[in-house]
Amino acid sequence: MRIDLHTHSYVSDGTQSPSDVIRAADVAGLDVVALTDHDSMAGLEDAAETAAAIGINFVPGIEVSCTHHGISVHLLAYWPDPSHPDIVSMLERTRAARIDRAREMVALVGADYPLTWDAVAEHSGDADTIGRPHIADALVAAGVFATRDDAFNEVLAGNSAYYVPHYAPPVLDAIRTFRNSGAVPVFAHPGADGRGRVVSTEVITSMARAGLVGIEVEHRDHSEVQRGRLARIAERLDLVHTGASDYHGAGKLNQLGENVTSPAALEALQALRG
Ligand code: AMP
Ligand code: ZN
Ligand code: FE
Ligand code: FE
Repeated sequence: MRIDLHTHSYVSDGTQSPSDVIRAADVAGLDVVALTDHDSMAGLEDAAETAAAIGINFVPGIEVSCTHHGISVHLLAYWPDPSHPDIVSMLERTRAARIDRAREMVALVGADYPLTWDAVAEHSGDADTIGRPHIADALVAAGVFATRDDAFNEVLAGNSAYYVPHYAPPVLDAIRTFRNSGAVPVFAHPGADGRGRVVSTEVITSMARAGLVGIEVEHRDHSEVQRGRLARIAERLDLVHTGASDYHGAGKLNQLGENVTSPAALEALQALRG
């Protein structure tokens, strides 16, 4: 059984449609795949339909941008209720803030590079959630950078003069909101320190007390040392230990199934579904 519980479509910053992500997962030989777009559930229905049609197991999910005292934290949640008012309003607020933030970043970058809001709007096309990768795509199209990665290493980096943060819900609140609605929250790439500051073990302990169910241990952005540390934290706090690709289509190097979750871990997540 090969299980990949973290992927993105062009509903957020992946490059394929939700249905194409599911087809690609089937071609990659996965038995179970989750779609976890940033701050949007808009792709889940199409993905579920395609999965049912081709006979691959599908887990609906989301990856929510959160904060903890100024540190960016990504929270995965499985089986989110798309009609739950608390979840819907939380995500709407973040998506609206992301548009204002993208406009501000485009104004700053556009003062020094050939970049316009129209170009970014064109590259965010069908996206429900706009993010820095769409700005990267417009910069690549303008010939400023060769790849998304190059754009992220320079003007779009979290410590760049062009970086603007956006509103995101406090992570402990988001965990409680998901648990209260029957969804299953998992901390995405807790040790990915290449993107900015990461939270301490004490914060992970608070997250567990708030209702966190699992942590993503196997992830491309974690070193072997970090995986060992996170596996021990999972064991000690009785959190489910997961692994996943964080696939973004052509937007990142991450390949479907490059990291996976065990069947026992998926069962443990499922058992806590409300
Ligand atoms: P944002 O959510 O708008 O702040 O943008 C962050 C998103 O960009 C993350 O979810 C990543 O998936 C993506 N990202 C981060 N670093 C890179 C990179 N080096 N290349 C491509 N995408 C990236
Ligand atoms: Zn992303
Ligand atoms: Fe993430
Ligand atoms: Fe992700």
